[in-house]
Amino acid sequence: MRIFIAPLAAALLSSTALAAPPPATGYGIIEGLTTEVGQRLAGTEAEARARDWAVAHLKALGFANVHVEPFDMPVWVRGAETAEVVAPFPQKLVLAALGNSGATPEAGITAEIVGFPSLEALKAAPDAAVKGKIVFVWHRMLATQDGSSYGTYGAIRFSGAAIASKKGAAAMLIRSIGTDHHRVAHTGVTDWGDGVKPIPAAALTVPDAEQLERILARGKSVTLHLTLTPHMTGTHQSGNVIAEVPGTDPSAGIVLIGGHLDSWDLGTGAIDDAAGVAITTTAAKSILDGPRGKRTIRLVWFGAEEPGGFGGLAYAKAHGGEKHALAAEADFGGDKVWGFRASLALPKSPLRDDLTARLNLIGVEPRPGAAHGGTDVGPMVVKGTPVIDLEQDGTRYFEIHHTADDTLDKIDPVQLAQAIEAWSIMLRTVVDSDDPLAPLPPRQEQE
Ligand code: ZN
Ligand code: ZN
Repeated sequence: MRIFIAPLAAALLSSTALAAPPPATGYGIIEGLTTEVGQRLAGTEAEARARDWAVAHLKALGFANVHVEPFDMPVWVRGAETAEVVAPFPQKLVLAALGNSGATPEAGITAEIVGFPSLEALKAAPDAAVKGKIVFVWHRMLATQDGSSYGTYGAIRFSGAAIASKKGAAAMLIRSIGTDHHRVAHTGVTDWGDGVKPIPAAALTVPDAEQLERILARGKSVTLHLTLTPHMTGTHQSGNVIAEVPGTDPSAGIVLIGGHLDSWDLGTGAIDDAAGVAITTTAAKSILDGPRGKRTIRLVWFGAEEPGGFGGLAYAKAHGGEKHALAAEADFGGDKVWGFRASLALPKSPLRDDLTARLNLIGVEPRPGAAHGGTDVGPMVVKGTPVIDLEQDGTRYFEIHHTADDTLDKIDPVQLAQAIEAWSIMLRTVVDSDDPLAPLPPRQEQE
């Protein structure tokens, strides 16, 4: 058989070797980034490789002005992470350290658990009830289409550990900010604020949190042995990768769009946020390939979003003085767009009517309320840049968000294609819109 196959293989090779395959768009960007780079923790060599991947890919797609804008940031890396109930019912629990968590000694700590059903209950507790103990806060987060339950319960992760530290707690455990019932923990950043001592802080998986709740409900003193050894590695370089679709009228302002290139270290960051960069890049490519719009599209693959929005702040510092017509961000997975919100200076903007008419054709409806952008474009939105939110279905997002389960197989190509179409329609409408897209009054803060 070999004698027949070899010439055929040689012929195939010679015909394909001449033409390189076209650079991927859509699903192919997510597939490429998650396969060829993998996890992309901010400020590490993995994120640097992702920037190289992005620059090569965006140049191959034909974008203009492709370059990296570097910035420095403090870098946190995960260490060992184990937990065992010592008494009354010895058993292991599954957890993951929160970003910026402090560390226990190598040998771990053993302390009594004090449990709270909400952040409000922890806040109300006297310091004496918490001092020297491992605080455990749980909740009842359920899935919502608009992701609003993350806003409700996310504060347990963002600020719970700092509250526990100020009260003298030895460590902080939370029920994962997630809506699944798998034994996979959800990481994410915790904020210490100025002058607050970082304590060891981790998220139990939802089943482990429910287990610990049941153990506590037996009314006996519960002791836990906890080992978390993450550490700060110092100040390292991250960066934003920028690419443009030049418009025909430079005075018409920049349309800023993008997602974030970094991911947490546990999964490969398919839904968070390879999907966002794929959606925005593929939509921008549709303008690059079609008739040029009046406005320039500036596409940013932001660096270091997860540990504290460093890329968005660096962008606003470097470019805040340039005329921005609009900002929009994709950082909510790869599922379909079902609604949109627009915050525009003109109360009866023709842009809003055009978007309503065109997006309705693919099942996207206008929604009441202000648009906010997200962490990456937030610093520009605060300055008064008009903003459009294309709202993706978040029903299954927090089953996977920030877990080891955030991998390529969670991407639904059909829903992803719809999201790209919605973004393409939005961009086409915006780049040519007659709305002058004047700035709004600056906002107090990003919600
Ligand atoms: Zn994200
Ligand atoms: Zn995230």
